[in-house]
Amino acid sequence: MQESASLAQHLLQSSPDALLVVDARGIIRYANATTESLFGLPAAQLVGQPLDVLIPERFRTRHGALLAGFVRAPANREMGARINDLFARRADGVEFPAGIRLSPFSYEGTDCIAVAVRDMTERRMISNALVAAREEADRANRAKSRFLAAASHDLRQPMQVIRLLNASLLRLIQADDVQRDLLQRQEQAIDSASNLLNALLDISRLESGAIEPDLTAVELAGVFAGLQREFEPSAAARGLNLQIAPTDLRLLTDRTMFVQLMQNLIGNALKYTEKGNVLVEQQLDADSLILTVVDTGIGIPEDKLARIFDEYYQVDSHAGTKRQGVGLGLAIVREVARILGFVVTVSSRQGEGTTVRVRIPRKQLLRDARQAAGSAPAVARAVPAQRCNVLLVEDNASVRAATEMFLGLEGFQTRSAAGPTEAEALIATLQPGDILITDFRFGGTVTGLDVLHHARSRHPFRVPAVLLSGDLESMLRAIREPVPDCRFLSKPVDVQVLLAALAELSAAHPP
Ligand code: ADP
Repeated sequence: MQESASLAQHLLQSSPDALLVVDARGIIRYANATTESLFGLPAAQLVGQPLDVLIPERFRTRHGALLAGFVRAPANREMGARINDLFARRADGVEFPAGIRLSPFSYEGTDCIAVAVRDMTERRMISNALVAAREEADRANRAKSRFLAAASHDLRQPMQVIRLLNASLLRLIQADDVQRDLLQRQEQAIDSASNLLNALLDISRLESGAIEPDLTAVELAGVFAGLQREFEPSAAARGLNLQIAPTDLRLLTDRTMFVQLMQNLIGNALKYTEKGNVLVEQQLDADSLILTVVDTGIGIPEDKLARIFDEYYQVDSHAGTKRQGVGLGLAIVREVARILGFVVTVSSRQGEGTTVRVRIPRKQLLRDARQAAGSAPAVARAVPAQRCNVLLVEDNASVRAATEMFLGLEGFQTRSAAGPTEAEALIATLQPGDILITDFRFGGTVTGLDVLHHARSRHPFRVPAVLLSGDLESMLRAIREPVPDCRFLSKPVDVQVLLAALAELSAAHPP
């Protein structure tokens, strides 16, 4: 008994923390030996002094109020929410960051507080170093994203040329099956490279923090109709049933990003489903609209679920099935959800299917569906093309030449100009039924949209047009007003989509 009391005494004196007992008025009643090494004052000298002597002057008033509060509602707790908040003061006036724990107790009828103080200098240095390392990593990550954005953007022009030249060759080589097969394979490879470029550009732009959401009223029905049109052909080709539940809800959100998120989720559901259905449904609960994308596909193993939102992550057990993506789709979903304030969760059973839930805060829901701005961008449907005349305005010589060749082989009469100024004379000669195809960005401030407005102002008829851009999203953001009889397409353009757009425009604008 005596031994354990003596042991407790030693423990108290040489505890790694400085230990003090303070009364309700803040007067030090006891200090252990560690107090001396921490504060540079013998314990005996501290007893009877106010606790304030150990606190930097600028904190004393606040500390008095905190002590009074603690006495009113005593509890065992750590002072200060973050270690960087608290400082103590040595006898020589030097301050150090301190971690302080308080514990109330009663001694011979008097309320007392046990105070344990430890020097946090080292921990704070480590914490600062971690913050600095994190900031450095973030900076490096943003630089990587900017580089990726620039590189993938610049690769689009040559990719566009390759795509058009390949399409032209495919057109020319009719007879030889071997050559045709080779070109078709090449076309598939070009499509994959284009998809990768698009995904890289999307993710790097989203991650670089350069994108501010452009909030407008978005009618879900319009977006879903567009998605149904976009995915229906591939679902049908694979014998899958794609069903999107009708809705009249409207959201205040960024249309482009919202579409991008849904495209990735529906695209995945179709990609990873061999047979059965892909359903898109909506549900309202007390605080959210929940959009679910449910598939009856191969599912995702439980231990992989946490990683599927990482960049370039693909589930290995899907290796047996043909890989179709690059592992960026869900990273894009993650970034879009972060920007738009959605929460995306996934549940899945291997071999049975996957359900993705997108939780959208109810405050983003709008009431009156009639005021919705804009409708879904029309997805071109191929109808037999009428071969009209085309005026092409494109500043990149290789893209211009490849486009001219491709359109020529497709039977279009094409005249081209290297920029808005050069296009001037040709614009004057446009006839009803002629279509303008123009790049959106040229070197200066004049855009393809300006070229189109100018062309329309010169003629009594409405000139139909296709606007092409290496950065479709930025082009759509830059265009504030709806532009009738104009299709907006991304470079490198899918030649079938371009032909379908030309067919649609020319059907609506016969010569
Ligand atoms: P990917 O381009 O490979 O589809 P994502 O980032 O979109 O990349 O998805 C990451 C991985 O998550 C996919 O490779 C796939 O293994 C898995 N995955 C995503 N959605 C589904 C789904 N609906 N069903 C099964 N597996 C899925």
